[in-house]
Amino acid sequence: MPEIELRFCPFCGKKAMFIQSDIDSESYVTCSGCFCRTRKIHYSAEYGANERAAEIWNRRVQDEKNKD
Ligand SMILES: [Zn+2]
Repeated sequence: MPEIELRFCPFCGKKAMFIQSDIDSESYVTCSGCFCRTRKIHYSAEYGANERAAEIWNRRVQDEKNKD
């Protein structure tokens, strides 16, 4: 799987990481500092949950920057 780039947390500036639950077939991105996170993304055959979660996370980083 190719490495997916995650931006730093818009709230605390710490590193973000993927959390995967094989039990629920869900994936999301969480911050290692303040533990804010994206909503959970359910795996699907045609679309990787990690890619989707990363997309949501990175877009939120952008949105937070645009607020200023
Ligand atoms: Zn954070």
